[in-house]
Amino acid sequence: MRWALLGASRIASSYVIDAIRAQQGAEIVSVLSSDAGRGRAYAERHGIAGSVTDLDAALGAEGVEAVYISTTNEKHHPQAMAAIAAGKHVLCEKPLATELSQAVEMVTAAREAGVVFATNHHLRNAGAHLAIREAVASGRIGRVLSMRVFHAVSLPEELRGWRVADAAAGGGVIPDITVHDADTVRFHLGEDPATVVARAGESGLGQGVEDSVMSVWSMPSGAMVQAHESFTHPHAGTGLEIHGTEGSIVARGVMTQEAVGEVWIEDAEGRHALKFETHNLYHRALGLFTAAARGEGRPSADGVDGVKSLAVALAVREAARSGRAVDVDYGGL
Ligand code: NDP
Repeated sequence: MRWALLGASRIASSYVIDAIRAQQGAEIVSVLSSDAGRGRAYAERHGIAGSVTDLDAALGAEGVEAVYISTTNEKHHPQAMAAIAAGKHVLCEKPLATELSQAVEMVTAAREAGVVFATNHHLRNAGAHLAIREAVASGRIGRVLSMRVFHAVSLPEELRGWRVADAAAGGGVIPDITVHDADTVRFHLGEDPATVVARAGESGLGQGVEDSVMSVWSMPSGAMVQAHESFTHPHAGTGLEIHGTEGSIVARGVMTQEAVGEVWIEDAEGRHALKFETHNLYHRALGLFTAAARGEGRPSADGVDGVKSLAVALAVREAARSGRAVDVDYGGL
């Protein structure tokens, strides 16, 4: 499959270029950058044949079947709509867009065009998360009562830029990390948050955008979810806990891009380690995407998953701003 990269980004250079190239027969033919010099240097650094500054040129390059969108968040919608109109399969970074209606439009357009549209929610590809989901779905901990997600990190210096200072580009911890937690909670519990309450603020890094947020979500089953995301916590560690009537799943160090962490179940008999696979998260995501483009199976997180994680994040932001409980609007999907 021939790919065009839309965006000369760090996430592509750190993980996704490698994951695309891990797929048999995959080739990256060009990278789109708004800056000709940066695009050229990026292409050279990563052994990509060409770089372009024009979206139509990226989409019109011979034989391109798929695009990976990893520009700043406000560009995802126009770039995805153009790629879909050109008949390309789309792997889009999270959050899908800055507004829910845009994300719904992207998913609807892809459906109508008959192309694969996926969201790069990497966490649900991790062996640890796959094992946790299996344990919950098989009834290992009984009926789920509550879940807690800890995803308060110290944002590395090189990632700060637009994330901590540019609301228009989709900055802030809610579009950056809460979307991942929303997807993870949906993945594990198999249901969509109904109502949220939240508090958010700036705790040292944010310049006009929130850098820390705590929220509580009500699930249709009656389960309650507590989520904590931050850019300013150097020693908090990440993890999650899912508490059921027959046991609790405890995971530490699993809200990450690497195949690491520790997971165990606590029940009446004591503590039991939960074993999991340690494959590369992004290789798995790209493998499922490539198969889906061939007509086999579905991507690990599709467009609807991307719309729903964005919907929860936007509800959390609105709840924090208004101080009220907010019903999550999934845009009809
Ligand atoms: P980057 O800041 O690395 O890149 C985003 C854009 O910034 C690029 O498209 C590029 O524009 C521009 N840019 C890059 N370097 C420079 C520079 N030195 N000077 C000026 N502009 C520059 O973003 P990330 O890789 O951190 O994030 C990109 C997207 O991926 C976001 O939507 C984010 O939410 C998502 N993401 C997802 C992750 C996941 O695991 N699923 C992890 C990290 C990010 P141009 O293309 O025009 O050159």
